Amino acid sequence: MANAETKNCTQCGAPIDVTASSCKYCGAETVISPQYVVTPPQPQYTQPQPPPQQAYQEQQTYYQPATSGKSKVVAGILAIFLGGLGVHKFYLGKIGWGILYLVFCWTYIPEIIGVIEGIIYLTSSDEKFEAQYASNR
Ligand SMILES: [Zn+2]
Repeated sequence: MANAETKNCTQCGAPIDVTASSCKYCGAETVISPQYVVTPPQPQYTQPQPPPQQAYQEQQTYYQPATSGKSKVVAGILAIFLGGLGVHKFYLGKIGWGILYLVFCWTYIPEIIGVIEGIIYLTSSDEKFEAQYASNR
């Protein structure tokens, strides 16, 4: 039965136990063979460095269709309830019209017109309201 765990003595060449610290034949200090201590070279995995994440963040240019920011709902409610005072005209930035409504509020005509305008505002599409009533600059 051959003992696999043997190595040859560096001095006398006798097969000695690999774990023995000294040769049992000649008494020489055994040197553990290099193949037992040398660890296999670690394969250098040179991982290709991913290029810096050049997140090409395209500048989101919002070409807003120049909205006035006016709400047709607010304008409509103002027109229906305060239309006689031209409040909705002031709200929509039409100061001249607002003053005109305010001057003629005693005739109740602006109030009637205001209610009608408020209904028109509320029933108009956002685009139409924006184009026809809100953006008059
Ligand atoms: Zn020996």
